[in-house]
Amino acid sequence: MKFTSTRGGIEPTSLDLALAAGLARDGGLYVPESVPVSETKQAEATLAQTATALLEPYFVESRLREALPAICEDAFDFQAPLRPLASDNAWLLELFHGPTAAFKDYAARFLAGSLARLRDPAAAPTTILVATSGDTGAAVGAAFHRRPGFNVVILYPHGRVSPRQAHGLECFGDNVRAFRVDGSFDDCQRMVKQALGDESLRARVPLSSANSISLGRLLPQMAYYAHNALAFHADRGEKLNFIVPTGNLGNALACWLARRMGLPIGDIVLGSNANDVLPRYFAGDEYVPRPSVATLANAMDVGAPSNFERLRWWHRDDAELRAAMRAFRVDDAMIRETIRQAPQRHGVIPCPHTAVGLRVLEQLRDAGDPKPWAVVATAHPAKFDSIVEPLVGRAVEPPPALAAWLARPAHAEPLDASYDALRAMLAS
Ligand SMILES: *Cc1c(COP(=O)(O)O)cnc(C)c1O
Repeated sequence: MKFTSTRGGIEPTSLDLALAAGLARDGGLYVPESVPVSETKQAEATLAQTATALLEPYFVESRLREALPAICEDAFDFQAPLRPLASDNAWLLELFHGPTAAFKDYAARFLAGSLARLRDPAAAPTTILVATSGDTGAAVGAAFHRRPGFNVVILYPHGRVSPRQAHGLECFGDNVRAFRVDGSFDDCQRMVKQALGDESLRARVPLSSANSISLGRLLPQMAYYAHNALAFHADRGEKLNFIVPTGNLGNALACWLARRMGLPIGDIVLGSNANDVLPRYFAGDEYVPRPSVATLANAMDVGAPSNFERLRWWHRDDAELRAAMRAFRVDDAMIRETIRQAPQRHGVIPCPHTAVGLRVLEQLRDAGDPKPWAVVATAHPAKFDSIVEPLVGRAVEPPPALAAWLARPAHAEPLDASYDALRAMLAS
């Protein structure tokens, strides 16, 4: 299996090169030349086994082929349970049982395991650049913390992440540095993209990305959808439908890709916050990226969803793409109301992102939709205690792994929101 760029400006390349590079040289995103049909059928397999079976066809020509099962065992060693909601015929797909209590732990750990095995031990250390609106940075920091041969540089928008999220980004130390950027998430993402496209810098400082543009993050995220959809189908003879709280579209695109590979996944509905580029597009407007606005679901504060380019590449035209999924907008007032009512209505306390998903479920039900839905719970509510606790009127305890990170001291360095500032820091 070879990989190409969404912009068509590169020769088909190997998975290993695509994983190491992050972004293609022509500025596009790597995509597999074709989408294989999955042979994965065993609903009884573990999550790690499902991941291995699903990813194998992409890894046939990779140096990682033999190591794939071990990489998956490492990355998928915590569960992704489907928990029934109090509301009818609906479940929560809990993806927050990893070390930093958000779904990004799976893919970050998969990417770290892959890159660690691919690198030449004699080469200069690789710097992993990551722009984050909260959870990516922590997941990537945790996945690469103290891994020989890697440094991590985290850029996050100052004042736009929750206090506990900020602590989670700043608590690593050692080979992981956190920079609070005087700007928005889009600024951080732009700075990272520019560095990755800067050939003269890369000749001096080996760089790689860990953002959701990386294939090494996109592909493994299929596993939890596949695993639960297979189990659900075996159990009930029905396809499971997914509501995915969405920012850069990485998680939802993985769900779509799993469906394209033939897994028994029904409808896919995206939940956006007030950054409604996708709801507008799916409702028939042009695709018009905009500056992001700050919301309670800050990991979804994205005005230019980077994976849209992949989604578009995979569809012939807008009509075909708009038939593939739907998207709903949920603003901050609705997020607050949903969190407040969730313990009673759904029997759970959601994080603000998960609340976007629950709100979409309520809207589907109000419109008479009877299907079985899984709402993707992208983070643990304890990460957003300052928002969630006043609304539900009780304390939300952090899970043990998160509590351990939060007990460490925190440190961040300031950085201007300019590429020159980032370049100077990396080159020094
Ligand atoms: C990253 C993140 C999202 C958005 O995921 P995308 O893959 O960027 O669409 C949603 N919720 C939480 C908690 C996140 O950390």
